[in-house]
Amino acid sequence: MSDLNQNIAKLDVHLQRFRDHGVLNFIDGVSTTAQSGELFDNYSPVDESYICKVAKSSVADVDHAAKSAAAAFPAWRDMPAKERKAVLLRIADAIEARAEEIALCECWDTGQAFRFMSKAAIRGAENFRYFSDQVSSARDGKNLRSPTLMNITTRVPIGPVGVITPWNTPFMLSTWKIAPALAAGCTVVHKPAELSPLTARLLMEIAHEAGLPKGVWNLVNGLGEDAGRALTEHPAIKAIAFVGESRTGSLITRQGADTLKRMHLELGGKNPVVVFEDADLDRALDAVIFMIYSINGERCTSSSRLLIQESIREEFEAKLIERVNRIKVGNPLDPSTEIGPLIGEEHFNKVMSYFGIAGDEGACVAAGGSRVGDKGYFVRPTLFTLANNQMRIAQEEIFGPVLTSISFSDEEEAIQIGNDVPYGLTGYVWTNDLTRALRVSDALEAGMIWVNSENVRHLPTPFGGVKASGIGRDGGDWSFDFYMEQKHIGFALGDHKIPKLGA
Ligand code: NAD
Repeated sequence: MSDLNQNIAKLDVHLQRFRDHGVLNFIDGVSTTAQSGELFDNYSPVDESYICKVAKSSVADVDHAAKSAAAAFPAWRDMPAKERKAVLLRIADAIEARAEEIALCECWDTGQAFRFMSKAAIRGAENFRYFSDQVSSARDGKNLRSPTLMNITTRVPIGPVGVITPWNTPFMLSTWKIAPALAAGCTVVHKPAELSPLTARLLMEIAHEAGLPKGVWNLVNGLGEDAGRALTEHPAIKAIAFVGESRTGSLITRQGADTLKRMHLELGGKNPVVVFEDADLDRALDAVIFMIYSINGERCTSSSRLLIQESIREEFEAKLIERVNRIKVGNPLDPSTEIGPLIGEEHFNKVMSYFGIAGDEGACVAAGGSRVGDKGYFVRPTLFTLANNQMRIAQEEIFGPVLTSISFSDEEEAIQIGNDVPYGLTGYVWTNDLTRALRVSDALEAGMIWVNSENVRHLPTPFGGVKASGIGRDGGDWSFDFYMEQKHIGFALGDHKIPKLGA
């Protein structure tokens, strides 16, 4: 049997439980339907086939989940660090043990290629392992001593938190938010994206089988405007960790205002990769291709704008076109597939619309620019050349395997174009001139820059964006800044003089 057929056979076994029972909520340690009994349908983007029903939750379900998270909070907060660490480690082990099942379900649910999703499942385990190691130091404070007071700062978990995740790499992103929340001592209500609910359910089950106490982590499925909104408005939920579109980020900030929610927003991007004429062009070519066409380009950190120095433009673009045309589009379950289908019809139509927009704006569709087949949401990897930064294809997040190439003459112009977008998540700089690399890295408005490299995530480092790309940082101790409150305790060291009133 071919690798593809083997994966199809294995997936069929894994999907059976979803076909039989649908994707239910999980609240207070119990699988539940939505209180209204309402369900919605979930389809695969690969062949548009029906997968299963999903619970369509509303305010009442979110209320149940939030109250359950609030009730479970004191015991989870006060659990000795050693025990909490052990639970998180068991979750990491259990994710690894079921990595193949998770990857296959994720491929079918999202259209992401197996070659990347098998790694994403392992990354999910790493997120739990990394944050389990941080449990013992999460509450650490400082002694900021003054002559008269011992000033102790300490940290306490903020309380029950809401986690709202998008459909792109949903498994990995859920672990990325939930692992540090649990490590900090917070309890969680998770609302996954309606378009990709399968692996959030697997993850939750894994956590409970690993010994997570009931109520510590609750799963509520449903639409953003119902279940998501109710979560952002619930008074028992103290903070919202959100990953999604920039305009949804604004919306949930408004929704959370009445209950004064702390918000962490990881939003969209239109990230530049700047290639100077003195760069190692072979390595730059590999990285440019990888950072926009892997994960179907449905990736917040994708380098969707190539800023190429005019002197090397023609040669670099010619090589790019040749490689882009060879990228293998196909069934995501096939381990040799490099690009699978886009997540669904609406997103497919959005991405396809930019193929027309590019032509209307006067850019050249140098590769791709069309659908592949007539079933499923496959598009050809696409390259727009002869673009300028004012065009919509240069300003708007397309969120697909679509690269816009813009030329620049010198460093100053590269920086000006790089920064002339509403977003500021990542930037990539290719040059062998060390001081130029530092100058450009410093000048680009972005939360993260990689020099002569693709995006390589190192968990202790801060992850997050500026401008319309977000507010807040994840990673290392920065995650705990969000999930915990800093607390000051002052101890008088002696009989320092207390002001007397009415004496
Ligand atoms: P989206 O904003 O449409 O949805 C994200 C989540 O928010 C979903 O679970 C959705 O149900 C929920 N939601 C929608 N409306 C809501 C509301 N009114 N109240 C509460 N919740 C609501 O985003 P998407 O299309 O699922 O994901 C793609 C986007 O995510 C892209 O813009 C991408 O750049 C971004 N993203 C950013 C990062 C990052 O780290 N910066 C990472 C991954 C994805």
